[in-house]
Amino acid sequence: MYCFLFGMSTLVFLGTGAGGFRGSSRQKSSFYLDGMLFDCGAGTCGRLEDLGLLDKVDAIFISHLHSDHVSGLYDVLVAMVVDRRKRPVHICSPPGLSDVLKLYTALGNKLSDSTQGFELKIKESTSPVLNIGNTKVRGFLLNHVVPNVGYLVENKEYTLFYTGDTAFPWSAPIEKVDYLIHEATFTHQFLDFAKKYGHSTAKEAAQAALKLNAKRLFLFHVDNRSSTPEEKHREAKEIFAESVLPQDLQSFNL
Ligand SMILES: [Zn+2]
Repeated sequence: MYCFLFGMSTLVFLGTGAGGFRGSSRQKSSFYLDGMLFDCGAGTCGRLEDLGLLDKVDAIFISHLHSDHVSGLYDVLVAMVVDRRKRPVHICSPPGLSDVLKLYTALGNKLSDSTQGFELKIKESTSPVLNIGNTKVRGFLLNHVVPNVGYLVENKEYTLFYTGDTAFPWSAPIEKVDYLIHEATFTHQFLDFAKKYGHSTAKEAAQAALKLNAKRLFLFHVDNRSSTPEEKHREAKEIFAESVLPQDLQSFNL
């Protein structure tokens, strides 16, 4: 079970590896923050259950429909049914998610039956807005090879921006954030790969953090085939000192 400090927001990294990350030390993209789940790669469901967080999720924000960001979603929804959840779940995603869920259901994986189930409130948009309690979340279309929505989280305590997958530079009407969770798939020597596949380098993530005057940068969606995560961390810190390389299951009080 996860312990929450009273009055503090806790950011919990569930999976920090890129789609091409080799091995299980970093699972695919997902993090939890104040009742919100951002992306839902493979393995997310078990991690939420291990931490006692599954029932705390009120809204799920999917950046894009590449498998390393969404393939764990059906497992999460089925686990909620098994747990006899009654509260609705909000899901924001770029267009196409409903078709994916319908396909699973058509293959015999039921999300509900006559005695149990909960409402899925799906919003498919590249510019969604959703209020969860006192928190407002807005999405902006960034710069990946498929439509990818970055999410800005705003409340009285903090502002946080999560990029999902994107090449750099990307544009969104954001001047400043407290916390930036930026993908850093490659080190800068692999800039050509980054551009080709719509990704960013650690150096570019650090440049984004500087531009947004962030308090802290979390390097996310890191690959380990081209260079190590630690090499990406070193590269980012040369430009932005408050760069953090979170491990899976590491949490931070905001
Ligand atoms: Zn992607």
